[in-house]
Amino acid sequence: MNRSQIILLVIALAFLSWSAFKFFANTEEERTDAEDDTDNEGNPITLPSNTVSNSAQARIAKLLPQVQEALYATIDGLQSQGIDVHVGETLRTESQQQSIVQGGASATNRSWHRLGRAIDVYPINPDTGEPDLAGKRTDLFIALHKEAMSHGFTNISFNADWTKRFITTNKGKIWDGGHIQYTEGLTWDQAYAQYNA
Ligand SMILES: [Zn+2]
Repeated sequence: MNRSQIILLVIALAFLSWSAFKFFANTEEERTDAEDDTDNEGNPITLPSNTVSNSAQARIAKLLPQVQEALYATIDGLQSQGIDVHVGETLRTESQQQSIVQGGASATNRSWHRLGRAIDVYPINPDTGEPDLAGKRTDLFIALHKEAMSHGFTNISFNADWTKRFITTNKGKIWDGGHIQYTEGLTWDQAYAQYNA
């Protein structure tokens, strides 16, 4: 090995150990966030479900406290029906939302995800053990939305007769089957003002 190869090797090793340090530091941080969360009154939020991963708990902790409560109640209700779920995206920034709209996965920049009030939840397909991201098991999505609605969530994935409700994005029609939102009767503008107060 010549001198510059040795220097490159040293730099690569330093980068690797820094990455490993960052990885473990972040994991630890996520756990602490989730465990330390409290509701409006300062009471700890119950984390009833031992099937919710640490990373999902960290995503849920970014939602408004009342939304976290309603989501955990939904997850619990589904579990008692034998349905496990994967908790996907929760809070998004304005620029994240814009790129999702550009990518054709959403029709609006005025998303409830930006206000800590929306979650993408997917039932675990018992046949595969994987989240049903493709929306194959409509029956499980219907069960998910019925449970979520009983805890105050709004369902925009189905029509009143439980046929799928499609949305039109710049890439065509899509079914956003896992999306639930918690509006508490507010308009988006009211919730936006409240969120940024
Ligand atoms: Zn969504």
